[in-house]
Amino acid sequence: MGLRTKKSDGHKPVGSTAGTGDWAVELRGVRRQYGRGASAVHALRGIDLALARGSFTAVMGPSGSGKSTFLQCAAGLDQPSSGSVRLGGTEITGMSENKLTALRRSRLGFVFQAFNLLPSLTVEQNVLLPMRLAGARPDRRHAADVLAQVGLGDKGKRRPGQLSGGQQQRVAIARALVTRPDVVFADEPTGALDTTTAAEILGLLRNAVDGLGATVVMVTHDPAAAAYADRVLFLADGEIAGTLPRASAAQIAARMTTLTAPSFAEAATAA
Ligand code: ADP
Repeated sequence: MGLRTKKSDGHKPVGSTAGTGDWAVELRGVRRQYGRGASAVHALRGIDLALARGSFTAVMGPSGSGKSTFLQCAAGLDQPSSGSVRLGGTEITGMSENKLTALRRSRLGFVFQAFNLLPSLTVEQNVLLPMRLAGARPDRRHAADVLAQVGLGDKGKRRPGQLSGGQQQRVAIARALVTRPDVVFADEPTGALDTTTAAEILGLLRNAVDGLGATVVMVTHDPAAAAYADRVLFLADGEIAGTLPRASAAQIAARMTTLTAPSFAEAATAA
């Protein structure tokens, strides 16, 4: 499972910096096509991208631009039609489903809009679950530390149903961080939360990057959420249409309107 050295192959992936091969996420020429022939949908049309460890990347784009497909392919939940994906230096393209499942459990973290906690388990058990599933000895002290880091040090014995939405998402973040994963993939993590709670959750993700060295890749449609990232990646029609280094919500929203259909631009301006 050693890290591989990045070789120059003519691609110039977004975010590449000279020399290092130590990317948390690396996509090369990733294409994903649904269906064949005239009715084929090209959801990803050749994505080249390298994300450094300890970076926070937001992925934005209009509906249908390929964000979900990108996240699924980058996280080993879906196989590209062609191209390669490396996570923490490990090539996952062509990996067996069993190996991929093991890799996802031990080396990736996930945070979803709908929290996806198991309601019958306590908060602590939910956080310990990735370790159990990965076959590692559940480290209760570490789980308690991570719960304290997300501000839930006193909630370990509760069930998710006894917590607010924001608290449930904190549990999900603790669960995502507990294995010290190579990458945390977040899919609209604040989509179900009010603005204040969303800001707290985004602050936690930011702290995970700054304080713990976590790598976060977050799909969002919300410019205010994307403003927490180090870099925003814009997708349009299955391609990377541009990037913005750390930018304000207003700057991100302005860029979005240049990518989108008039109806979306009007909606964004009206919002
Ligand atoms: P986004 O997340 O940005 O809305 P998606 O990745 O969901 O975009 O979709 C990208 C394109 O691929 C869209 O045209 C969508 O209709 C198509 N697509 C996504 N999933 C499937 C599927 N399972 N079968 C056929 N087409 C799909």
